[in-house]
This record gives sequence, C-alpha cells and structure tokens, in this order.
Amino acid sequence: MEIFKTASDMREWSDSMHRAGQTISFVPTMGYLHDGHLSLMEKGASLCSALVVSIFVNPTQFGENEDLDAYPTDIERDLKLIKAKGARAVFLPDKKEIYPENYQTYITLEHLPKHLCGLSRPVHFRGVATIVSKLFNIVRPDAAVFGAKDFQQLQVIRQLNRDLNFGINIIGAPIVRESDGLAMSSRNAYLDPEQRDSALSLSRSCSQAEKMVKAGEKSANAIRSHIKSFIESFPDTRVDYISICDPDTLNEVEEIDTEVLFALAVQVGRARLIDNILIKP
Ligand code: AMP
Repeated sequence: MEIFKTASDMREWSDSMHRAGQTISFVPTMGYLHDGHLSLMEKGASLCSALVVSIFVNPTQFGENEDLDAYPTDIERDLKLIKAKGARAVFLPDKKEIYPENYQTYITLEHLPKHLCGLSRPVHFRGVATIVSKLFNIVRPDAAVFGAKDFQQLQVIRQLNRDLNFGINIIGAPIVRESDGLAMSSRNAYLDPEQRDSALSLSRSCSQAEKMVKAGEKSANAIRSHIKSFIESFPDTRVDYISICDPDTLNEVEEIDTEVLFALAVQVGRARLIDNILIKP
C-alpha cells in the first residue's frame, strides 16, 4: 500500500493508474477509523479496481470553539485497518500541504448550508466543500463514497459535484451502528459511561419519530416537541436541532405527506452527536 504525503505524488500516482486503465474509488476521512469508515471502504473497493483513502483532520471545517485540537487520532492503527481493506493508496497530507501560506480560495454553497448543522456551525460546510473539492482534484477518483450519517454533507457533496462538473460517481452508504443503535462516530470516544447512555437518545429518537409517522402523525411540530422532551429526559444532553425536512432541499416541513428526513444534533457532554433517518408516511 502506497502512502503519499504530497498532492503532487498523490496525483502523479492516480494519473499513472488511469493511464494503465485502472479506475479509482475514494473514501475521504478524518481518521480514528471505526466500522462506519470501513464499510465505506468495502463499498469503494467493490466499485473500482483501486481504492484510495485519505486521512486529514480538516481545520477549515471546525469553528473557533469546536474540537479541532481534541479530535482523536491514531494513524498507525488507521493505516493497518486501511491496508486490511485492500486499499492501494493512502493520502496523508499535513496542514501546510493542503493550506500553504497565503491560501485564499474557498467554496461556498448558497442554500444547503443554511439548514441543520449549518445553522450552528456557520463555517463548517464551506470547509467541507473546499477540502472535498481539493481532494477530488488531487486524487481524481472515478467514484467517491460518503456516509449517510452526515446526510447534509452527502447532499452538499452531490450538489458540489453537479455544480462544479467534477463528474464523479458519488455514492451514499448506510449508517453503521453499534449493537444498541448508537451511530458510530469518532467523537463517541469523548463519552463517559453515563454520557454513552444519554447518547442513545439520538437513535431512539429516530425510531420514535418513525413510529409516530407510521402511526399516522402528520404534524412535524408535534413530533419535534415530543422528541425534544424525550431527549431532555436524558442527563447531560443539550438539543442543537430537531429537524423534519425535505431530503433534497432540507427545507423544514409542516405537514408530513411525502418522504421526510428526520435529523437531529445533540450535545452530549463534550461530544456533539448527529443522527438521522429517512421516513416514508
Ligand atoms: P469523518 O472521518 O467523520 O469525516 O467521516 C468520514 C466518512 O465516514 C464520512 O463520509 C462519514 O459520513 C462516514 N461515516 C462516519 N460515521 C459513519 C457511520 N456510523 N456510518 C457510515 N458512515 C459513516
């Protein structure tokens, strides 16, 4: 497995692979890998002849008071896991390689970031759109796999791919969960045992919302307020948002009569956690 630390080495390798008739799938990550990340790699490996994984904790997608400096990392372990998934190359740049002195180009989307996580993380999707565009230009993949756990991110990347004509096959992969339902996340490492119990409020909220819709509840507000009290009954939780929205535009809905996205973000102790489910009435 090749490990590239510079954009030029990475791109040279990708170009030579393409010249040799290979296709490239790509899984970008911030490392501290778990089974969610590994499921994306399996999907990627099944799509193309060569899988490339990147590990880069992207500073521009973190706000000033967020957890950039605390973000967990274990590169040696990550590299072993990636190798075991059969990846042909890892792109492992440092911050200076991606954002050298006098860096000044950023990508912003007009509408999608004005919802859900974008409301409390105003620079987040600008950072995501910028790093993903740069990685696409460096790795030049044919296909790229992203997790549905970050549903808004997946929609942002699909939009970016269309708007900027990257021509990459963007694949969404299902949320991978612990056996009790908690969506896997590198940030789960921040939870102490009591907070780990409180974190279950997110996946349980998704199931409850689904049950309410399936039982005929049409009022999005009724569901939002029921779920808010449910989450607040768990210690050490602070609701950031509970959204019932159109899955494509992310506009909030009032009456549920077509498929909706139920999505939420909750601060549990130090960890800001997210989860979501698509629900058909
Ligand atoms: P991150 O390292 O958190 O930036 O995530 C890298 C990729 O893994 C993103 O496409 C995420 O959506 C995806 N991912 C993270 N957690 C999960 C999960 N529990 N299930 C599926 N995909 C995930």
